[in-house]
Amino acid sequence: MPKVLIVGAGGVGQVVAHKCAQVPEVFEDIVLASRTEAKCRAIAAQVAERTGRKIETAQVDADDVPQTTRLIERVKPGVVVNVALPYQDLAIMDACLAAGVDYLDTANYEPRDTAKFEYRWQWAYHERFRDRGIMALLGSGFDPGATNVFTAYLAKHHFDTIETLDIIDCNAGEHGQPFATNFNPEINIREVTARGRYWENGAWKETDPLSVSRMFDFPEGIGPKKIYLLYHEELESIAKHFPTLKRARFWMTFSDNYLKHLEVLGNVGMTSIEPVMFQGREIVPLQFLKALLPDPSSLGPLTKGKTCIGCLVRGKQGGRDKIAFLYNVCDHEACYREVGSQAISYTTGVPAMIGAKLMLTGKWRGKGVFNMEQLDPDPFMEDMNRHGLPWVVTTLDKPMD
Ligand code: NDP
Repeated sequence: MPKVLIVGAGGVGQVVAHKCAQVPEVFEDIVLASRTEAKCRAIAAQVAERTGRKIETAQVDADDVPQTTRLIERVKPGVVVNVALPYQDLAIMDACLAAGVDYLDTANYEPRDTAKFEYRWQWAYHERFRDRGIMALLGSGFDPGATNVFTAYLAKHHFDTIETLDIIDCNAGEHGQPFATNFNPEINIREVTARGRYWENGAWKETDPLSVSRMFDFPEGIGPKKIYLLYHEELESIAKHFPTLKRARFWMTFSDNYLKHLEVLGNVGMTSIEPVMFQGREIVPLQFLKALLPDPSSLGPLTKGKTCIGCLVRGKQGGRDKIAFLYNVCDHEACYREVGSQAISYTTGVPAMIGAKLMLTGKWRGKGVFNMEQLDPDPFMEDMNRHGLPWVVTTLDKPMD
């Protein structure tokens, strides 16, 4: 059915709405629902202005399963694209099961009270989705998302076996604000302040937050930047689905300024998710901090520079050692001109649209719950080039230690 229901009208929801509107041959009807319908209406007005297409809007509290089920049953979409917050994943999956409709998201479920990045809650839905004859596609953003597909593409076309993987995420953009996060601050800070973790020789190794770093020379004029080891959710599914991998790590760039602010905020307790009493009311410090920080969507017109996200793989081809780097470079200002958002939302929203497109057109089909790397990477990679995220593969001489 050529209809999509997008849930969540934040930075990413805005890009998904624009990109779906640009592909009318697949997304004949678009409905955008969120907790605050006014945000959906503002996005719909922007989309109408830029593409001439009309988007229907709705109000929904996606934590409320019966309410979301009623919305899905009324709209009757071919797929529900969940770009609300990770807290809503299980409730929206329950609503999709009740209504018998396919599901897609861009981030794994997280309980509100513990910052945990694990697929086990969502993988536990596999049998129920399979028995209902519907599909759930997990993590169809950039990382997770494109990075999982990049790994699958390299394994399919460039190597006989893959042995090590380094996923490297660089935001070389500048927004001129003293401190801001480029996607939801609460989710972003939970991720960055968590302990580092990577896969090595069949086991998970832990590191103190941001304690391991390297220098990496980024292509296309970005140049050398310091990258820090973090845990990121796609490592869990990739380590499971590519058993030849001896090591899998994830790295991200941070400016010294960002890290200094984060350290101070952490030291005074502002990044904590433990509730505290304040003037007779319980508040969560990190949620209060989110209220003070710039809304990521307000950074769109301010951000200049590029992002570069890619997968560095070492392995064997034809009996020889080989190192390949598959990456995309995206320009913040070009994204803003196209859809009114900066590159972080853009690089997440485009793969979400592509995942939904492949599901609606039947190129990616399955019954149950799937991670991106379980599906054929080729149609996704073609669509990345077609829909604004072109990629490059290069070979390197030196591995990363
Ligand atoms: P925002 O905070 O900008 O937007 C989230 C939206 O979800 C808001 O519009 C909010 O509505 C809505 N929402 C929150 N709770 C509910 C609810 N109970 N019911 C309905 N709507 C709700 O976040 P982003 O757009 O930056 O991120 C969206 C998702 O994308 C997140 O899950 C994030 O983790 C993920 N992400 C994934 C990336 C990847 O590469 N895979 C990268 C970046 C983000 P309202 O404003 O009305 O309160």
